[in-house]
Amino acid sequence: MSGAALAAYAADESMSRGRRRPEPAAAYRGEYQRDRDRIIHSAAFRRLMYKTQVFVNHEGDMYRTRLTHSLEVAQIARTAARALGLDEHLTEAICLAHDLGHTPFGHAGQDALNACMRDYGGFEHNLQSLRVVDELENRYAEFRGLNLMFETREGILKHCSLRNARELGALGERFMERRQPGLEAQLADLADAIAYNNHDVDDGLRSGLLEVDQLREQALFDTQYLAVVGRYPELEPRKRVFEIVRRMIDTVVSDLIVQTRSNIERHDPRSIEEVRLAGRPLVGFSTEIAGQHRALKRFLNRHLYLHENKLATSLKARTIVEELFGLFMEDVTRMPGDFAAACGDDPGSRARTVADYIAGMTDRFAMAEHERLTAAA
Ligand code: MG
Repeated sequence: MSGAALAAYAADESMSRGRRRPEPAAAYRGEYQRDRDRIIHSAAFRRLMYKTQVFVNHEGDMYRTRLTHSLEVAQIARTAARALGLDEHLTEAICLAHDLGHTPFGHAGQDALNACMRDYGGFEHNLQSLRVVDELENRYAEFRGLNLMFETREGILKHCSLRNARELGALGERFMERRQPGLEAQLADLADAIAYNNHDVDDGLRSGLLEVDQLREQALFDTQYLAVVGRYPELEPRKRVFEIVRRMIDTVVSDLIVQTRSNIERHDPRSIEEVRLAGRPLVGFSTEIAGQHRALKRFLNRHLYLHENKLATSLKARTIVEELFGLFMEDVTRMPGDFAAACGDDPGSRARTVADYIAGMTDRFAMAEHERLTAAA
């Protein structure tokens, strides 16, 4: 139930595999719209506001957080969903939920928690996002989790190890059988990459960790740089960056729409099932833009995410996560009552509950808890 006409290959809620626990239909909303609303009302969604995307929250008020990142992903994906005849509400729901399972302190936090969980099945943020919507959000009288539609959950679980896929029943099957998810999920995945590639250029320049001259080695950036400087030679530097970034987003999104239309035409899927069986993703960029987009991603990895200033922060984040993990494993009553009570007798169940608790923390809460508990110890 979207604003625009749905194509035959779009997710169709009347043909959906539905919710794990069946519910009566809502009076004024479609089912994917209802999923989107449940995600927005969740506590995990609100906490994204204080979780690191690339820059830790206290580094400045102007940088992206996981919340604003998720909103940018959703906004990019909705435009493309509408242009391609896909379900806009489902696309939006997947985008808004895609990072719910992220730990505090971005990738540094996740790597640290994964290392802590090495002997207990590891920690994967995609799987954790699914755990958040399936189990950890606990606010409805009749079920645990948000009881979302199959296609929303399918989109949230972007990647998953085969070992974990085996435990997931119907949702894990596609990883073992190498099937694709629906187009809304494929789109949300690429919109994520489009959003961070572009906002990290903006945030990277703002922070001074990246320089314009360095970025000019990147074709995606330089093409728009030359266009903007040619047309507005007097433009002040910050505005120049905004103008370049918005044109970069427009370039990759337009390319994605055109290329995806042509892929769809060639494969001609008549249903979401045929999309799942297509053998490869149908949402994608042209070869040229895909190359430029990947090159920019590698560049940001080398020059921004692995920048020495970022590495120092990462080291601190790792210490906080590791020490919190040890403190809670040692004494589960250091966690709130419901988490302490959820720990079973075996170390595996205790470790998973501790990981759930730490993963749910915002950056600032993790720092405050760490300070409080290490001062007490
Ligand atoms: Mg993301």
